[in-house]
Amino acid sequence: MHSYDAAVDRVADKMVAYATDRIRMDPPLDGFRSPEELLADAGQTITARGLGGDEALRIFTDILAPATISQDSPRNLSFVPSGPTPAAVLFDLVVSASCVCPESWQEGSGVIFAENQALRWLADLAGLPESAGGVFVSGGSAGNLSGLVAARETAMRARDAAGLGRPARWSLVTSYEAHSSVKLAARVMDVEVITVPGDERGRLTGAALRTLFADGVPDGVFAISTTAGTTNVGVVDDLAGVAAVCQEHGIWMHVDAAYGGAALAAPSVRAIFDGIEHADSLVIDPHKWLFSPYDCAALIYRNPQLAKQVHTQKAAYLDVLQANDEWNPSDYAYHLTRRARGLPFWFSLATHGTQAYSNAVETTLATAHRAAELVDAHPDLQLCMTPELSVVVFRRNGWTLKNYEAWSIDVLARNIAYVVPTVHEGQPALRFCIVNPTTSVSHIRAILATL
Ligand SMILES: *Cc1c(COP(=O)(O)O)cnc(C)c1O
Repeated sequence: MHSYDAAVDRVADKMVAYATDRIRMDPPLDGFRSPEELLADAGQTITARGLGGDEALRIFTDILAPATISQDSPRNLSFVPSGPTPAAVLFDLVVSASCVCPESWQEGSGVIFAENQALRWLADLAGLPESAGGVFVSGGSAGNLSGLVAARETAMRARDAAGLGRPARWSLVTSYEAHSSVKLAARVMDVEVITVPGDERGRLTGAALRTLFADGVPDGVFAISTTAGTTNVGVVDDLAGVAAVCQEHGIWMHVDAAYGGAALAAPSVRAIFDGIEHADSLVIDPHKWLFSPYDCAALIYRNPQLAKQVHTQKAAYLDVLQANDEWNPSDYAYHLTRRARGLPFWFSLATHGTQAYSNAVETTLATAHRAAELVDAHPDLQLCMTPELSVVVFRRNGWTLKNYEAWSIDVLARNIAYVVPTVHEGQPALRFCIVNPTTSVSHIRAILATL
């Protein structure tokens, strides 16, 4: 099983051909099927004697892959899709073949050097100081949890040092529009969430925090978690206003820019992120809008030492890794073993240069704004708000949630698009999230023509 024999070699050629074909083609939208249908076609695939590589690959290519939606289809505008560059996807194959584990400098210095340069580009876009640094984790969810754990630990140590003891309950402050993973992180950490009403666009503002803190900051508040690009509508919180309040009260500012952070590279919208340079922790997912394959999320701290105090794992068998003062990526998040998930992003960034990234993000922003204009001009559609970033939310006159759901299933079945309904201000709506530069205005027109 471990020797690279003729049978493996034959299947290898087929796999490489499949992979390169998939990278070259206009990605198929595909769809989903029921477990019964899949069982009928694929059968029991785990057997004592094995199916052989040809048969296992056939089952994947003929049955499983077509039952799995492609996130990089230009007609997939659901949730937050993806638009990885061929360079990044190809390099992901190299990463897989390399079998490296960049958890520690000793094991992964070359890889970590490259990952850190890619992280530095993001830190510079945000205006974070030279001291900033972090690690690539699996996603925004893992990044938010790890960042907020570092915030709580920092607050705990400050209280301990001041002889204040522990609060009755720790709490974090955020907005209604914050991502579900922030609320999940709070549940995992057993901390309370204080939810602040947003302004007319749903943004968390410095003014709302001042109202909340009018009689002093509630005991136990360890972080304010802002969102720089809400998932549902793509709105950026009042980061400068929040930062001022955080600084006044010595509270950790977390910025969840999992979706929106890519737009830091776009000069046309950079100003709406002003204040992000004050972040104590920042999450940006290159697997969302920076053209990287799954999975890849950047977690960056203003002062990485603070994260290291809580995230470093200590054990007799790990002591050797802490012997020198070297950069161990495993020290900055809740993980140990890790894939070199920043490398495909690094390779594409190194290949194409940062200007190409700025241009590609601007392309998606322009497509989103054109889509909003087309919605606005459509006799049966109502635009819910002018997009700040690349999310377009709108309603079809007279439609209920049932109509939206039926339309969504129908356009997927007809291989036109993958667009799912959401809820905006209590009412069902449709939502385009445009992060793929290959999504064109003609794709948008074709979708709108079915409404
Ligand atoms: C997608 C998203 C997350 C979660 O990121 P994953 O990579 O899916 O774990 C967190 N915050 C925001 C704002 C997001 O859009």
